Amino acid sequence: MDFTLPAEIEATRAEIAAFVEAEILPVEADRANYDAHGNIADAALAPLRAKARAQGLWALQVSRDWGGRGFGKMAMAVCYEEMNRSIFGPVVFNSAAPDDGNMMMLDMLATEDQKRRWLTPIVNGEVRSAFAMTEPHPGGGSDPGMIQTRARRDGDDWVVTGRKWFITGAEGAAHFTLMARTSDDAREGLTAFQFHKDAPGWRVERRIGIMGPEEHGGHCELIFDGLRVPGEDVLLGVGRGLKVTQARLGPARLTHCMRWLGLSKRCVEIAVDYAGSRMGFGQRLIERESVQMMLGKLAMDIEIGRLLVMKAAYEIDQGRYGQKEVSMAKIHVANLLHQAADTAIQLNGARGYSTDTPLEWIYRYARQARLVDGADEVHRMVLSRHLAKLGRGFWSWDVAEGAGDA
Ligand SMILES: Cc1cc2nc3c(=O)[nH]c(=O)nc-3n(C[C@H](O)[C@H](O)[C@H](O)COP(=O)(O)OP(=O)(O)OC[C@H]3O[C@@H](n4cnc5c(N)ncnc54)[C@H](O)[C@@H]3O)c2cc1C
Repeated sequence: MDFTLPAEIEATRAEIAAFVEAEILPVEADRANYDAHGNIADAALAPLRAKARAQGLWALQVSRDWGGRGFGKMAMAVCYEEMNRSIFGPVVFNSAAPDDGNMMMLDMLATEDQKRRWLTPIVNGEVRSAFAMTEPHPGGGSDPGMIQTRARRDGDDWVVTGRKWFITGAEGAAHFTLMARTSDDAREGLTAFQFHKDAPGWRVERRIGIMGPEEHGGHCELIFDGLRVPGEDVLLGVGRGLKVTQARLGPARLTHCMRWLGLSKRCVEIAVDYAGSRMGFGQRLIERESVQMMLGKLAMDIEIGRLLVMKAAYEIDQGRYGQKEVSMAKIHVANLLHQAADTAIQLNGARGYSTDTPLEWIYRYARQARLVDGADEVHRMVLSRHLAKLGRGFWSWDVAEGAGDA
């Protein structure tokens, strides 16, 4: 196994690191740059985005033909981790959820015409996007088979009725992907539709209050009462909604993990800085074995997370879904992020609980990581299903052609 980075990837990583250090961390340090929901305010964001774009540090995840850098998932893992050293990093480089996952999905699945219409404006940073799948009880949440939002054919169009909630970015997004039921078939009952915010027949019912800081546009409840979608705005084909979901959520879960590793490293960075200088009972904190145990464990757990992410990235770069690898990375890194923020707060004492560092922001944000894009328990269920199917083959390696011939 070769962990050497190609020169272009290392150069981009270093550029991102320098940009975060020089341009983003100073903005993050000044609370005047935060909006009412704890995210970077538009006035502070716009010049940073323009600068990042001018440097070519923009939409790395999108193919070159459609305005990005065409990075594979392993290369993205290196760069996304670096971006999220700052809580504001990913959005500056146009790599924040949910636009990140939506761009990758459209790049992968949309037709050329659909890409021109729905993808290009997101890549250009002209509009934001949202992915609407989850529904309140008794609709679809962990189990997409329970989706109740319906789309009925009317001539060449589809007419949608139903309700969604926790749709990230919906307030202010212009391009939506919507998952709706078009038949009762267990495998082919769902269809993905694209629609524009200005289309009549739907509304944002409310922006749901949450415990953490919010992505731009919040997390919203949406009502559909006659949204009309032309047939040309069906993504991938009628009845292919589960395929769209699989293609959308796998890579997006993994890019969450890449970013969360960056946040976890930031927590350790702040903890080490403080523990390295803070004196108590005649010693620096970092000289105490109990503190060393905490930091050493975190450092190791971050490295385990990076290896799990790289393995899953490798699977996707080979053209496979990497479902079990993504599930393992998602469970591990979501819990790691929570642990990293908690430990760093503990080691910083009262300072850790204050808004003088981003630790409390990360701590509040971290709790969602174990829920979004599949709760821990659902991913463990997926792993157990793979185990039942594959047995000892669960832990197999790719083998080079010709190996074992001797
Ligand atoms: C901050 C945030 C942003 C989100 N953004 C979006 C978005 O942009 N678009 C979107 O469509 N959705 C979004 N969601 C919704 C998210 O994807 C769902 O919350 C998630 O899929 C779980 O669904 P649910 O909330 O309906 O939980 P439920 O399905 O009601 O499950 C509740 C709990 O039951 C347990 N559970 C469920 N299934 C199993 C099982 N098989 N075995 C054991 N235990 C189980 C788990 O502990 C789970 O947390 C967001 C959620 C949050 C919190």
